[in-house]
Amino acid sequence: MYMAKRQGLGWRIFDDAGGQRIPVVTMESALRRALQRGNRDELYLEYQGIHQPDGRVRVGEALLRWSNRQLGRVGPGEFIPVAEDSGLIVPLGSWALRQACLDALSWGDVGVSVNISARQMQERHFLTDVRAALEESGIAPERLQLEITESLMMMHPELARRDLSALKDLGVRVVVDDFGTGYSSLAQLKNYPIDGLKIDRSFVMGIGRDDRDLRIVEATVRMGQALRLDVVAEGVETVEQAEVLRSLGVTALQGFLFSRPAQAHTFLDLLATSAG
Ligand code: C2E
Ligand code: MG
Ligand code: MG
Ligand code: MG
Repeated sequence: MYMAKRQGLGWRIFDDAGGQRIPVVTMESALRRALQRGNRDELYLEYQGIHQPDGRVRVGEALLRWSNRQLGRVGPGEFIPVAEDSGLIVPLGSWALRQACLDALSWGDVGVSVNISARQMQERHFLTDVRAALEESGIAPERLQLEITESLMMMHPELARRDLSALKDLGVRVVVDDFGTGYSSLAQLKNYPIDGLKIDRSFVMGIGRDDRDLRIVEATVRMGQALRLDVVAEGVETVEQAEVLRSLGVTALQGFLFSRPAQAHTFLDLLATSAG
């Protein structure tokens, strides 16, 4: 296990066995080489089900995985920030987008959801990349969903508005990920052409533990309903959380209680058993 910490000039990795430090450049160059090699055992996507309230899988979320011979398994929470700082997120994200659309070809009408970092969307070729991924794979645009963050709308309001409208014209769905952890305002939700919200795991986790989290979730669901948005709860781990969320009226649930992220072929098996 490795942990990355922001330290002065950059990221340092701590090996919790030996406490050895690996400078950020090491992770960065290892990631760059991994991208160049294109080895699918090293950099690949896993998929986690986003389930309807009745349990059926409606969408699979693509989650990047990196397993390096020297560094071991590095979590996206660690290497995505390095990829963003170095710009590697642009080729990495564009690969993930194309691969996810290709993998989704065999999923019937189940959609595919791809995380997009703000840095990637700022890139001039972003919309071209989305169109290329759709054309190359041939999947219907309605089956592609992009997960963006509140920070994009905050930091680049005009760019976000322009790109989101263009995506809407393409027929691609857009949802705001980790909703409630950023600083987006209700007015912004009204002004952007988005299709849904994903309530952040931190609030879902608190259901049954902290009444304030329950109230936040409740208010978010109601607001989503009022704005005719899809409301997805992420990080659902207990039966109690799922019951509360269903009764509040969320449109979809995602979490270890339902299914864990799995490699493409295993996800396909899950789809086969979940199709009613
Ligand atoms: P996210 O988009 O919010 O993805 C959900 C994360 O929550 C995933 O972590 C997933 O494995 C985890 N998760 C799902 N259900 C549960 C649960 O019930 N309990 C717990 N404890 N965790 C759960 P993961 O795969 O480590 O990804 C972390 C983050 O890295 C993602 O958060 C996303 O922001 C980023 N990421 C992953 N893949 C990509 C990618 O292709 N592009 C970009 N830009 N970011 C990515
Ligand atoms: Mg996500
Ligand atoms: Mg999320
Ligand atoms: Mg999250």
